[in-house]
Amino acid sequence: MLSTPTNKLLVLLLVMLTLLAAATSADEKQLSVYAPVATYALPIQERSGHEYVGLLELLEPLGRVSSEASTGRWRIRFNAIDAEFAPGKTRARVQGRVTDLTAPFLVENGRGLVSVASLGTLLPRFLGSAVSFHESARRLFIGNVAIRPSLQLVTEPQPHLVVSFGAAVNPTISTEPGKLRMLFKHDPVVGPETSTVSFDSKVITEASFSETNGVAELDIAAAIPLIASFNNNARTITISAAPSVASGNAAGQPAQAAAGTSVAAGTSGAAPPAAGNPTLTAPVPSAPAAVQQNVNRLLAVVDPAHGGDERGAALADNLAEKDVTLGFGRLLRHELEVRGFAVLLLRDGDNALGTDQRAGAANAAHAIVYISLHAVSQGTGAGVYTALLPVTGPNNGTFRAWNSAQASVLSVSRTVESAVASELGKKQFQVREEAASLRPLNNVAMPAIAVELAPGPNGLADLTSASYQQKAAAAIADGINSVRDRLVTQP
Ligand SMILES: [Zn+2]
Repeated sequence: MLSTPTNKLLVLLLVMLTLLAAATSADEKQLSVYAPVATYALPIQERSGHEYVGLLELLEPLGRVSSEASTGRWRIRFNAIDAEFAPGKTRARVQGRVTDLTAPFLVENGRGLVSVASLGTLLPRFLGSAVSFHESARRLFIGNVAIRPSLQLVTEPQPHLVVSFGAAVNPTISTEPGKLRMLFKHDPVVGPETSTVSFDSKVITEASFSETNGVAELDIAAAIPLIASFNNNARTITISAAPSVASGNAAGQPAQAAAGTSVAAGTSGAAPPAAGNPTLTAPVPSAPAAVQQNVNRLLAVVDPAHGGDERGAALADNLAEKDVTLGFGRLLRHELEVRGFAVLLLRDGDNALGTDQRAGAANAAHAIVYISLHAVSQGTGAGVYTALLPVTGPNNGTFRAWNSAQASVLSVSRTVESAVASELGKKQFQVREEAASLRPLNNVAMPAIAVELAPGPNGLADLTSASYQQKAAAAIADGINSVRDRLVTQP
């Protein structure tokens, strides 16, 4: 389903609710646990000035666990290990061995709570010795899971910082004047050898690592606006100068020089998702996006909308839009490939991706066309959409360029829209063509359309029918193929 102006109010409301939820959860204290089998976060409870966590909840993702409360005793069994705790007491027994806790054990509604400060000594008794607890940051590493980044400053041809992680990472990236910040909420990233690394460069000057409340943070300080791009299946993040905002400035305002106080366009979302995504079926430049100028001939970006917790519309009782768009996206990838296109599928699994991340990944790939896919249970046929750009807006430098990245190619997008609509019509789809205020179309710097698939003559069953989806995918691919010359020669 699309977030078109008709349901903009609802979207606004949802955004506000989401922001509220985010504000609340940001303030909550949490413990992050990183183990080979699972990564998770648990809420912290404060009792009498001590921080507590539920012991059963902590062990549950790691093995077989059961607990039992009786008067004056609380027992827990984890795999083959038995332990016994007593409410109000700081002494416990694990496998018969006495263990001292830093604060009295508590039982609340049958839940056993242990003090967080006890975990460093208590957990190895359950899990073996391979436990590393960063207590002040509330980050618990079980087994050999830590990812220690290495940083390398490259000065030629343009200064850029290559941060290698050795495993895929998925940080939230944001910028502020003089700084690019990577927040690792789910990755077991630990600091480099020293928490601050200085570089012999006037451009990118310093990297600093910190961790607090279950989250690690790596900040890169620079004299210029920075942009991050992912390489090597999200194992490497390359940080370089943000591109000048000269192109993509809709109203012909003079481009702002890249000054230290600007914020990089689009850096809040250049991140592709974790391991394995995006799925690349064509070579994509390994050079940082900012210095790669040429478009990739015949590279198309296919973006199945929604994913992860963000399910999209409920198309039927057990049918989420995110699943339909994924299957549809894979079929479209195939149809484009057999017509000679290389395809970057932005998600090839059930993972969550923000709209900024989607646009950032598409822009970094320098593809020639971007197709966002949605599905809807109402109506029939298909809708084809292009961006509805804001006519005017305050000139706040690079943000404005990000929000109107689509402006310079919008006429080509409309050409693609008409061609796709025409091919869909030939295959008996009822087609609507519309401009829609629909993210991330505005932020995509290449010809871009969204296609929303609606049921056909067989009703809802069509949405899960491979032959129906395949027919639509073939029409979209035909439409794009029919205007490929326009796409390749775009400015
Ligand atoms: Zn949708």
